[in-house]
Amino acid sequence: MMEVNHYIARIAQNCVECGQCASSCIFLNQTGQSPLTIARREIAVSEAFSCALCGACEAVCPQGLSPKEMFGARRKAAITNEEIDINEYRYMFPDRKNNVMTAYRKHFDIDYSDIDQFDEADTCFFPGCTLMTYSPQLTRKVFEHLQTSCHCQGMWTACCGKSLDQMGLQNRLQQMHSNLKAFVQERNIKRIISACPGCHYELQEVFQASDVVIQTVYEVLDLGERVSTDRRLCTVHDSCPDRFAGIFSAQIRQALDQCGFSITEMIHNKAHTLCCGSGGQISHFRPDLVEKLVEMRQKEARLTDADIFVGYCLSCVLKYDGKMNGIPVTHALNLLLGVEEDFEGAKARATSMFSGSYGEAIWKEIMDD
Ligand code: SF4
Ligand code: SF4
Repeated sequence: MMEVNHYIARIAQNCVECGQCASSCIFLNQTGQSPLTIARREIAVSEAFSCALCGACEAVCPQGLSPKEMFGARRKAAITNEEIDINEYRYMFPDRKNNVMTAYRKHFDIDYSDIDQFDEADTCFFPGCTLMTYSPQLTRKVFEHLQTSCHCQGMWTACCGKSLDQMGLQNRLQQMHSNLKAFVQERNIKRIISACPGCHYELQEVFQASDVVIQTVYEVLDLGERVSTDRRLCTVHDSCPDRFAGIFSAQIRQALDQCGFSITEMIHNKAHTLCCGSGGQISHFRPDLVEKLVEMRQKEARLTDADIFVGYCLSCVLKYDGKMNGIPVTHALNLLLGVEEDFEGAKARATSMFSGSYGEAIWKEIMDD
C-alpha cells in the first residue's frame, strides 16, 4: 500500500485539473473525473485494470505527474490484498509451463530447439515471446542476420517478465528476474540483442547493476545496400515502452531512411504516441477500450498519405492486423530485411485453436496446474 499511497499523495497535492491527460486518454476521458478527484477517493480495482499503463498522461502532464504510476501501484495493491482473482487470467502468465503462447507454439509446431540450446554465448538474441510465437519466420531470419553481423551465438527463448509486472504480480516477477540473471551467469552472456521494445527496457532494468550490455537489433543489424527505388512513404507507430527513451523510435526512422523509405508522421508520435491496446493487458480486462484505441489510430493513419504502416513491436502490429483501411501493416524488421510477413491471421489462428473438442482439451491443459 505504501507505493500506491505515495503516488496518490503526489497527485492529490499537485494536480491542477488541467485536463491534458484526459485529452490523450480514452479511459480517463470515459471516467469523466480528473486524476485529482480519483486520487481523493478510493480507486476501484476495475479502474486500475482499465488503465493501459501507456504513459501518455505522464508525457503531457505540466506538473510532472503520473496517473500511470498511480494506477499501476493500485494494481499491485489489489493483488497483495487479494481484491482480484488474478488466477483467472493464468492462461497468460508467462512463467507457467502452459499458457496461450506456449500452446500456440506447440499447436503450430513452432520449435527453436535447433538454435536455443547453448552452453555458453558471449552474445545472444532475445526475440521476446510475441515475436517468437507469432512470427517464427522473421525470428529465424533476424537470428541468421545477427549471426553474421555481430557473431550472435544463440537465441534465448525466454520471457522478460513485463506482462507479470503489468498485471501487478510482483513476487512472480522477482522470481522470473532471478531466473534470467542465473541463465546469463551460467552461460557467461555479455551482450543481449533485443528485438522488442518492451523486452529491451525490462532487460535494461534487470541487468542495470551488471556489465551485461543490452542492445537493440537495429543497432547491430547490417542493413547493407538494400535501397527501395520508389521511396515508399511509411508512417511509424511508436510503442509505449519506448515513449520516454526514444531509442527504437530514432533507430527505426534512421534505418528506414537508410533503406530508401520516406516517413510521414501521424498526429501522435514518439513521446506522444497512442497505445495500440496491448498495454497493461487491457485486451483481457477492457476489450471495449482496445477497439476505441484502434479506431483512433486508424483515423490518424488515414490523415497521412502513407503507403505502409510500420510498427516495431509485434503486439502493436497484431492489434492493427488488417485494420488499417487498406494501408498494409508491417513490422519494421520485415520491411528492413525484406522478409515476407508470416504473422498475418495469427489472431484468427489463435482463436481457431480453441474451437471444438480438441480446442477444449488445449484450454484445459492451459488452465490445469
Ligand atoms: S497510462 Fe495511459 S491509459 Fe493509463 S491513465 Fe495514463 S494515458 Fe490513460
Ligand atoms: S495532466 Fe497532470 S495536472 Fe493536468 S489533470 Fe492530468 S494529472 Fe492533473
